[in-house]
Amino acid sequence: MAKPLRLVMRQTTILLYGDAMKVIQTNLSEEYALREIINAYFPKSKIEYVSQKGDDDYVAVEYMSVSGKHGFACEAYIAGQVCKSQYEANEYSKNAVKKVVSDALKAATGIHLPWGLLTGIRPSKIIRELKDSEHGGDEMYLAREYEADESKSRLAFEVAKNEARYINAKYNDGISLYVGIPFCPSRCLYCSFTSQSIAFSNKLTVPFVEALKKEMREIAKTSYVKSKRIETVYFGGGTPSALTAEQIDDVLGTLFDAFDLRWAKEITFEAGRPDTMSKEKLDVLRKYGITRICINPQTANDATLKLIGRNHTVDDFVRAYKLARQCGFTHINCDIIAGLPGETEADFARTLSTLRERSPESITVHTMSIKHGSYLDMNYDMYALATANSVNNMLEMAYATLKGMGKVPYYMYRQKNMLGNLENTGYCDIGHECLYNIYIMEEVQSIIALGGGGSTKLVKGDVIERVFNVKEVAEYIKRIDEMIDRKKRLFEEFE
Ligand code: SF4
Repeated sequence: MAKPLRLVMRQTTILLYGDAMKVIQTNLSEEYALREIINAYFPKSKIEYVSQKGDDDYVAVEYMSVSGKHGFACEAYIAGQVCKSQYEANEYSKNAVKKVVSDALKAATGIHLPWGLLTGIRPSKIIRELKDSEHGGDEMYLAREYEADESKSRLAFEVAKNEARYINAKYNDGISLYVGIPFCPSRCLYCSFTSQSIAFSNKLTVPFVEALKKEMREIAKTSYVKSKRIETVYFGGGTPSALTAEQIDDVLGTLFDAFDLRWAKEITFEAGRPDTMSKEKLDVLRKYGITRICINPQTANDATLKLIGRNHTVDDFVRAYKLARQCGFTHINCDIIAGLPGETEADFARTLSTLRERSPESITVHTMSIKHGSYLDMNYDMYALATANSVNNMLEMAYATLKGMGKVPYYMYRQKNMLGNLENTGYCDIGHECLYNIYIMEEVQSIIALGGGGSTKLVKGDVIERVFNVKEVAEYIKRIDEMIDRKKRLFEEFE
């Protein structure tokens, strides 16, 4: 009789090595999930395959399937310390793979991931879809299924509950427009977006505006767009307010001329950099009835603003905010970032208190993300970044402060390489939810992207089709007809 050992199907052995993590031999089908969870512990690690272990740090995963049982084992060798974990499950699953790796890495590094095994970018979407299904969904679901902290599980549930008031899934015939203006006054340390510095590309703004206007007119004429109600419009970037007042007037004039906006419930215009704002520009925005603008301090610490390459001060933010109020804006959003280089929890508390004094209708709290290709990514070792625990404390501080101000969390998402694998959350006064943010994060409404760098996403039930606009300004100008044709073809396929 064969010994049980012979029944073991050693389907895979994966080894990943430290700083430049390396994988040996793999046919494990959840390799992507494995990479995601390792990146959650080591945001900067690169994972590559090798044929055998070396002297570097590594993670070794073994998966065995025996008589219907599924056994997972992991050995993490980090900084000379070996930590092992084992896990047995009734079925092979992505979470089982992640769990065994996470247990070993947690023991090896001492790092606690507040979102547990959850690596996806839309935590609240999981809850919302469960709530829509016969399975229901409760506030402890993510804690049970993904080993998330109870506070994170509750947060995702709270967001899903707040969003639900504005989502009726498959749902309506509305669409949204996104207009990308890829210019900024300077490049932020953490930015990976190919926005053009307005100082160096001033000449490009003129042909860019012409190309954008052409795209608007052509797309507005399509039967797909004509058959839909435009519910929201979002000007993002880049920094749309980096354009001159005349150019903004020209773009908005064309938008209103080309599209039927009678059903539009909101139009957001990102005036993200306070140093790009002027009374003249604000008056233009008011003339067109822009309902929501974003003025983003990111931090209330001048030294940090200098370090991250934003050419404005906290006073500039305060002035721009005051000016926007004087011009009659009743919905202002302010973005801030937890975990900016060199910042402590006390610094972040100061940022929150600066916002509390002003009480904008919306505040979006981002977690620092080490975006691939950013200056920060390429010079990571030069900057002091807060620990994951400290950034999580900042986010909890934000939650408590903003709830204390009467705001509710209403949309959330996560990005790759965020410190602590944490989250971005949008808070607002009830009734000031930005529908566009909900629609794009929950993928419940088609969004047509115009301008530089946007992605058009057509949604029909569970089917989502995408086409992209090029980001680079000169390319966008040169290939404008292609950008238009791509969308027209997609519309035809989708109709
Ligand atoms: S304002 Fe935004 S788009 Fe512009 S450089 Fe900074 S992060 Fe990038």
